Amino acid sequence: MADVTIRGAGIFGLSIAWACLSRGAKVRVVDPFGPGAGSSGGVVGALAPHVPENWNSKKAFQFDSLIMAEGFWQGVEAAGGVSSGYGRTGRLQPIADDHALELAQGRAGTAADLWQGHATWQVIPATEAGDWAPHSPSGFLIRDTLTARMHPRRACAALVAAITAKGAEIVTEAADEGRTLWATGITDLEAISAIRPRMFGAGVKGQGASLKVDMDLTAAPQLFADTVHIVPHADGTVAIGSTSERDYGDPKSTDEQLDAVIDRAIAAVPALQGAEVIDRWAGVRPRSRSRAPVLGEHPIHQGQLIANGGFKIGFGMAPKVAEVMADLILNDVDQIPDDFRPEASF
Ligand SMILES: Cc1cc2nc3c(=O)[nH]c(=O)nc-3n(C[C@H](O)[C@H](O)[C@H](O)COP(=O)(O)OP(=O)(O)OC[C@H]3O[C@@H](n4cnc5c(N)ncnc54)[C@H](O)[C@@H]3O)c2cc1C
Repeated sequence: MADVTIRGAGIFGLSIAWACLSRGAKVRVVDPFGPGAGSSGGVVGALAPHVPENWNSKKAFQFDSLIMAEGFWQGVEAAGGVSSGYGRTGRLQPIADDHALELAQGRAGTAADLWQGHATWQVIPATEAGDWAPHSPSGFLIRDTLTARMHPRRACAALVAAITAKGAEIVTEAADEGRTLWATGITDLEAISAIRPRMFGAGVKGQGASLKVDMDLTAAPQLFADTVHIVPHADGTVAIGSTSERDYGDPKSTDEQLDAVIDRAIAAVPALQGAEVIDRWAGVRPRSRSRAPVLGEHPIHQGQLIANGGFKIGFGMAPKVAEVMADLILNDVDQIPDDFRPEASF
């Protein structure tokens, strides 16, 4: 008999399963399509912080989660023996002009305050970065040490290995046993929207790619240039993402919108010239009306719980979402920020 049934084996469902198992609960995960079949099965994996200013509960929650990530993924990898590709390798961003330079320099101060000494935000001369850097019209770059990366598809595999090593089942079908939590991404957002007077949440399609670059970038920082994430992974690939499409047909196909993102990345980063595209992938991100995660009592299934709305930062949010939901499920301790409750999206 399971203490907890989790419906949905994406990053939210698997991370919550892991947190519950780590506290000694018996857990069953149910997903008719298998782990990583939804938006979590991709390639990008930027764990990038919000700009360190105008602090709010979402930014604070994400900051805590980014700080927790290293220990979280170490625990997962130790239990299951599969790498998630996690690494806190930092990030470089170009600075367009004098105004942006002044803003970036000011943020070094707010980061020192808001990031509480856990990481730095610095402005550096672009010449310090070497060949792996974006063009920067001002001649300076922002370098932060909070940004990390992990490989989404591999991270799901790492969680599956850890969860099964701890004795949990992952099955395609099962009745509810114990406390039930739904982490079913856009399926649930659409189901809830269908019975509410207003849209509760919807999918936003994203396309990303993996490139093979002729440099050893396994420990190199990720780059964020012209709104494109360029993420060197531990396996030697470099991921590029993403498109953001509210209006889409086939959720899984890739097209010329991805070509345009790849072209922008190559234009921004000289070292990407001539790189080979080795994988193209698309998925649909779960976006709630409030744009924040949706955590708490399920709006349709009485007495059951929901964890959804990871939108563009689901992997970054997962370690803390997992802890908060395990606290609620197993200890009746509710630390969910009000902005993250389902009511925020009614
Ligand atoms: C192109 C792209 C790039 C991205 N880049 C990043 C990034 O760099 N950093 C980051 O943090 N985030 C990123 N994201 C966002 C991140 O991938 C999502 O926030 C995250 O995957 C959401 O996870 P989830 O577990 O809520 O949903 P999903 O991964 O969609 O999982 C839902 C699961 O529920 C299952 N399911 C459906 N119906 C049922 C049912 N009835 N019963 C049981 N199971 C069911 C599905 O099969 C699926 O496995 C990106 C997303 C995309 C598409």
